[in-house]
Amino acid sequence: MAKEKNQRILFSSKEISERVNELGKEITRDYDGNDIVVISLLRGSFVFAADLVRSIEVPVNIDFMITSSYGHEEVSSGKVDIIADIRTSIEGKHVLIVDDIMDSGFTMSKVIEYVEKKKPESIKVCVMLDKPSRRKVEISPDYVGFKIPDVFIVGYGLDYGDYYRNTPYIFTFDD
Ligand code: 5GP
Ligand code: MG
Repeated sequence: MAKEKNQRILFSSKEISERVNELGKEITRDYDGNDIVVISLLRGSFVFAADLVRSIEVPVNIDFMITSSYGHEEVSSGKVDIIADIRTSIEGKHVLIVDDIMDSGFTMSKVIEYVEKKKPESIKVCVMLDKPSRRKVEISPDYVGFKIPDVFIVGYGLDYGDYYRNTPYIFTFDD
């Protein structure tokens, strides 16, 4: 896997961890006195979710869902499949859905529609990155790490051709 383009770092691992800690504090405050179920959307959000849950101080149940949009594209097609479901019962529970990035919003709106059928008490959404200029459906996350312009993001869980998910900072390729 050779990728010889130049990396331009957008957020260092220190900036990320400071922001994630702030999000954790905000979530802790908002859910004070309640338990939550965090649903992490795989694969992209596993790094962010792992850091985020460790900065949340209310009791947390963690489960995972695998979603996929058709094709290996940099642009979401609007057709989203739930490939693997959570195993936790969320009826009557406060649910926080966590994803790496919100782009068109197709993935999250499909997931919310699906999760709503399980009758949780509430649903909120937390994403590390938000590209509001790319939105195709009317949706906005409740918690956002960083708002970013329309650039293709890699690292901190986000892949380029299935690599770089383990890169501890967030970058884009300049070319
Ligand atoms: P949406 O359904 O909102 O268009 O896109 C959500 C999914 O598309 C994200 O969970 C992520 O997997 C992928 N995606 C969107 N933008 C980017 C990006 O800039 N970089 C990478 N690596 N994936 C992205
Ligand atoms: Mg994803």
